[in-house]
Amino acid sequence: MFVSSLDAELGRRLEAIRQPNLLRELRRVDSPQGPHLTIGGKTYLNFSSNDYLGLANHPALKEAAIVAVKAFGAGAGASRLVCGSLALFHELEEMLAIFKGTEAALTFSTGYATALGAVTALVGKGDVIVLDKLVHASIVDAAKLSGAKIRVFAHNDLNDLEDILKWSSARTASTAESTGGHMLIVTESIFSMDGDAAPLREIVELKNQYGAWLMVDEAHATGLYGKHHRGLAEELGVSEQIDFQMGTLGKAIGASGGYICGSRELIDLLVNRARSFVFSTAPVPASAAAATAGLALIQSKEGSLLNQRLWEHVATCQSEISGLKSKTTSAILPVIVGTESKALSLAAELYELGLFVPAIRYPTVARNTARLRMTLSAAHSAADISELTRALSALLE
Ligand SMILES: *Cc1c(COP(=O)(O)O)cnc(C)c1O
Repeated sequence: MFVSSLDAELGRRLEAIRQPNLLRELRRVDSPQGPHLTIGGKTYLNFSSNDYLGLANHPALKEAAIVAVKAFGAGAGASRLVCGSLALFHELEEMLAIFKGTEAALTFSTGYATALGAVTALVGKGDVIVLDKLVHASIVDAAKLSGAKIRVFAHNDLNDLEDILKWSSARTASTAESTGGHMLIVTESIFSMDGDAAPLREIVELKNQYGAWLMVDEAHATGLYGKHHRGLAEELGVSEQIDFQMGTLGKAIGASGGYICGSRELIDLLVNRARSFVFSTAPVPASAAAATAGLALIQSKEGSLLNQRLWEHVATCQSEISGLKSKTTSAILPVIVGTESKALSLAAELYELGLFVPAIRYPTVARNTARLRMTLSAAHSAADISELTRALSALLE
């Protein structure tokens, strides 16, 4: 058969991914997301999703999405700046701002688009962006695209962060012209692949001391931490000191999209300058409505009960699975095994037993830190959790 030179070239590239055990393939699922997944006619217990509260398939969110489709249609028509901005987005943003205790909020089509749009709107050539070593790919990509000078501090290492801020502020002071010269620190609050927490109080102190701006990505904390489930910043009492509060609507909130919460000026600037907002069709009405319903649910009595159930599951796993890396309490439970092939074979063994646990490999995590990453959900039953702890304990012995 004739193989075009293009396909031959692409085939070589794929082989270069496959050879070190880094090839990824889509696995078709024939059921909704939830604690059980149907794959190839078989049912698997699911410990792979970031749907921490089980809202992705919750009746209240589904109903809100259906009502929104009936009232506002399936599509949004164009960018919100072009064809008008549907009321549903405003309702969601007003609720988000109240939830996070900020003046205003802006939503984007995804968390990824949020990072890209916000970071590039805020810093550029002449500025310095300071990243934790383990921040999400969306923030790394945003930093590269921004044109700002990128500096990376060792994961959660405050001394390293301070050294960079010192270097950077000395450099800015020596720059004669005052165009730019801003410093932006970006970190996550709960880290996506390790489940550990950033020392936000100390980072806030440093940012104040050196006059830097601070963006915190609460993708894995919104809905789960703090008295009102606003995030880790609420739990640590530093929300008001964070200039740009970022997150996704696609994890604990159960829908899809991303957001930035902050001052009115910030939001007005993003509406004008965040290119992933300006030059992209608005999300579908159903997703905004589902996110609003998810946010409302998180703030209700039921939201507190779901939180309680999730944290009970986390406590059970932390006491019964030895070899868990995380010292922090989070719903992300990584077991770091080292090589990609070890992670793949452990995941395959669990899959054989009917448990869907992903092997996380490079480039999502550093080479030789491949891991099983279990995520728990309030939608799991106690029996689901004991099936996991039993299988995993047997496997890791
Ligand atoms: C998932 C994630 C994002 C991206 O959000 P999406 O809504 O999935 O695009 C950004 N930051 C972190 C830390 C994440 O885990």
